[in-house]
Amino acid sequence: MNAEIIAVGSEMLTPSRIDTNSLHLTAELNRLGVELVSKCIVGDDRVRLTDTVRTAIARSQVVILTGGLGPTEDDLTREAVAEATGRALEYHEEIFGWIRERFARFGRPVAEINRRQAWVIAGAEVLPNPNGTAPGLWLRHGETAVMLLPGPPHEMKPLFAAECLPRLAALLPAQVIATRFFRVAGMGESDVDQLVAPVYTSYPDMATTILAAPGDIQLHLRTRAATAEEAEARLVEPAARIEALLGERIYSRNGDPLEAAVGHLLRARAATLAVAESCTGGMLAERITSVAGSSDYFRGGFLTYLDEMKRDLLGLPAGLLAEHSAVSEPVARTMAEGARARCRADYALSVTGYAGPGGGTETNPTGTVFIGLAMPEETRVLRVRYVGDRNRVRTMATQTALDLLRRSLA
Ligand code: ATP
Ligand code: MG
Repeated sequence: MNAEIIAVGSEMLTPSRIDTNSLHLTAELNRLGVELVSKCIVGDDRVRLTDTVRTAIARSQVVILTGGLGPTEDDLTREAVAEATGRALEYHEEIFGWIRERFARFGRPVAEINRRQAWVIAGAEVLPNPNGTAPGLWLRHGETAVMLLPGPPHEMKPLFAAECLPRLAALLPAQVIATRFFRVAGMGESDVDQLVAPVYTSYPDMATTILAAPGDIQLHLRTRAATAEEAEARLVEPAARIEALLGERIYSRNGDPLEAAVGHLLRARAATLAVAESCTGGMLAERITSVAGSSDYFRGGFLTYLDEMKRDLLGLPAGLLAEHSAVSEPVARTMAEGARARCRADYALSVTGYAGPGGGTETNPTGTVFIGLAMPEETRVLRVRYVGDRNRVRTMATQTALDLLRRSLA
């Protein structure tokens, strides 16, 4: 079954607002086994919107519109769908009653313009919206199911879950979806793809998606079958082959990010962690503490941007900085060891580098980062060089640091 999504609203044609509703809806549709074949954004223009709806209904079995159900003149979704499907609009006094009650609950009188939200496309089912004034609409037009949903995400998401998912599921042949997730650190997207493509391309019943972020690749395997057992069974062999190829580079099988995977390992070993950051300016600590319960293992750390702070807070000898410069193997080593001792932690990570766009030397050009890991037995230092802008270098540095710790703990 094919679906398309139409996001309605001129604000999403400006540089300041993006359509996030369709991402949520796509994930929900995929979970049902419905594939998205097209999506678009249409401004608040009646003629264009009517044309777009007409085209979508003619070619897709599921059409979802979000936005434009509000009370103002520029909210045109109801009118456009009515026109595209050749149906009348009918006024429902009881809907206006619900809207009036909602306003009363907030101690406000209802505005006359809210009557616009009480118009229903002939033959459509009204979908109650407990989080806003505009109800959604569901209609069948020929073979196509059409949904009109409110634009605000906090209204759209619960309404879709409560009203649309069960109606859509009833239209689908009974089928169950099985999925596998792998998250991989320390490899680029094309390297992962080159390695695993020979496997996934040989299972035509399985859909494979590769999502890439700096230093972080997600691999999703998905298949559908009549029963859960059958669907699961179909993934066993390709998943095992992919696991064998990626080996210990896989850090998560449940979708957890790297900072959570590291947290599990630290907690399991009852070990503690500290950080000393220079060029990442707190990003590493931010990631570690974004995990709920990180106080079980994270003790704290140092944000030492200038040389004198590295000296004063971490106890780096002045001669070391003068001799080697702040971006160097000995400085990363001493930063990690200083943080480990001062925080009385079992492990400490340090990051010092040239995030760019300026800076860098002949031997350590822009993008060079030294990452230290002080452990009970020894201290390790990695020298890495990243290409990309400042944000990418900094993100990659935190990813490499966390992965260095993960591999040392595993
Ligand atoms: P309202 O009754 O609030 O006017 P509406 O159904 O008319 O609801 P819109 O006016 O189109 O919806 O959008 C209201 C707000 O919802 C927008 O300002 C925007 O913040 C958010 N919104 C709308 N569409 C989307 C979308 N596709 N993705 C993310 N946010 C959206
Ligand atoms: Mg609106």
